Amino acid sequence: MLQISKLTKQFGSQQVLKGISARFPEKQTTVIVGPSGSGKTTLLRSLDLLVRPDSGELTFDDLKLDFSQPISSKQRNKLRNKTSMVFQNWNLFPNLTILQNITSAPIHVHKVAVDQAEHQAHKLLQEVGLDEYATAYPHELSGGQQQRISICRALAVQPQYILLDEPTSALDPERENQILRMLERLSNEGNSLIMVTHNMQFAKNVADKILFLEDGELQFDGDKEAFFSAKTDRIQQFLQGVT
Ligand code: ADP
Repeated sequence: MLQISKLTKQFGSQQVLKGISARFPEKQTTVIVGPSGSGKTTLLRSLDLLVRPDSGELTFDDLKLDFSQPISSKQRNKLRNKTSMVFQNWNLFPNLTILQNITSAPIHVHKVAVDQAEHQAHKLLQEVGLDEYATAYPHELSGGQQQRISICRALAVQPQYILLDEPTSALDPERENQILRMLERLSNEGNSLIMVTHNMQFAKNVADKILFLEDGELQFDGDKEAFFSAKTDRIQQFLQGVT
């Protein structure tokens, strides 16, 4: 299981994460919510070392990182082999076909044979109903389709944890539903997901566990039912403000 302890991060004079400790259970969907600027993306990106925390610890099975010490590239790669990030703006490579976008990490980073990587990519594309776009380029696809491709790309490396930053931002409700169904299926199939979202209805549908961040501090860590029925003024106020 992936766990963090007392994680801190400062940008300039701003303390963005103020000692966050949390567990991200396997085969569950953990959703990180909170007001804008509360540190959600910074926390998510810390789990993939796209952001380097200043102090605290991260443990993942036998891997233990102490951020007050230097992190070796071997440790970083070990962590990144277990996690895969789906970016908010999808970040597909514009000059590569859809198939190449999905197979590039398996082939070039994980050294999977080309045939095998392509076979796996076609399988993923069929699952999301987009195999006919294998030879197309990203700009030929709609936003919702590109988002599904970026999830396929993250899945192609068979990560233990899939990290998603606002997976439904800028999608219309129909596309949002498609992504929701895809994430629900991933979750039902026993994948471990960690997701940042502003969309409380989406969180309600897909989450097992909720982390509520405010001003760099964890204000709630527990199961979804407890969060949505929480009686604290602050959680009620937040839920009323965003729904
Ligand atoms: P959230 O995802 O909850 O909106 P973020 O983690 O994106 O919050 O940002 C938290 C705070 O950290 C914000 O005030 C933001 O401006 C600041 N911040 C985030 N990334 C950087 C960065 N790379 N450099 C400087 N400040 C940053």
